[in-house]
Amino acid sequence: MVDKKKLKERQPVAWKILSNALKSGRISHAYMFYGQKGPDQSRLALLFAQSLLCQHRDEDGFACQTCDSCRQMAEESTPDFFWLHPGGLRTRKPLSRKELDAWWKTQTVQAVENKSWRLKKEDILRLQETFAYSAATTARRQIYILEQYELATPSASNTLLKFLEEPKDNLTGILCTSAINMILPTIVSRCQLIPLRPPGKAALEAELGELIDDEEMVAILARAGYDVPKTSELLEDQAIFELRAAAKDYWGLRQSHGALVGLELGVFAKGKFGTREGVAFFLNCLLYFLEQEKRTDLPSIREREILLEGIDALRMPLDPLLLMERVACDLRKVGRAVR
Ligand SMILES: [Zn+2]
Repeated sequence: MVDKKKLKERQPVAWKILSNALKSGRISHAYMFYGQKGPDQSRLALLFAQSLLCQHRDEDGFACQTCDSCRQMAEESTPDFFWLHPGGLRTRKPLSRKELDAWWKTQTVQAVENKSWRLKKEDILRLQETFAYSAATTARRQIYILEQYELATPSASNTLLKFLEEPKDNLTGILCTSAINMILPTIVSRCQLIPLRPPGKAALEAELGELIDDEEMVAILARAGYDVPKTSELLEDQAIFELRAAAKDYWGLRQSHGALVGLELGVFAKGKFGTREGVAFFLNCLLYFLEQEKRTDLPSIREREILLEGIDALRMPLDPLLLMERVACDLRKVGRAVR
């Protein structure tokens, strides 16, 4: 069940717009929830969908989440409601801790994300069929949620467009996206836009804490702005744990000549860590360790600059390992200048 109070705090703008719509009863045919990918998007989409059918709504107009109607929608067991998740069931929510444990033990839980998934024309046709069928049995409002709409194929969008151009009275669509600029303007213009804010650091820490039983790791990831889907992806192997351990060893030795050599022969000698992603995470670990020292002297300010510049430079097309080498040289110089 969604924590409505927290959701309202985190997404005040979206909450207000939707609350007004629910209270006034002026419901659009289509909404587009857009903004940085995060769990709030799907949660608010479901809560809003539930609110359109719930008979026990709160003073803001939102669903009770406990009545039969609300529960059936959360379980997706009602023909009035169609919720299309990317790649099927797995990506709807991040892996739970239990699922993760199982994965580490057996490596057999299905892949976290079907990376080649697209929303296809057949999906939209299936949606139309579902509603044509259920319309015969119910007079209730029909609702659909399409997640990660930016992954729709052009023919899916054209099919949906026809749907949006001839709106049925009792039909409401909720399109979710983290890349509104990739969506056909003709689709966007037919939706009421609902902006979602990126999660703040505290909220992010709480989210990540559900995923990883490791406070320090949660703090490092939240500090660097890794969101839940990104973190789930990173957790597919244990790389981040190995990288953090290497970063910790290195940080203590950063002024010694052997530190960099140790890295190059150690963790970064394994090809898979020498990626942009791996180096970025490594540098974010160092930045976290630096901040934990709570120093305010000049060398620490310089070290911070070096690390931030390094992380920033990773956006450019350069060899991540060479960049790391440069960062390590600069860090070592800072140390020598002090002595
Ligand atoms: Zn309800």
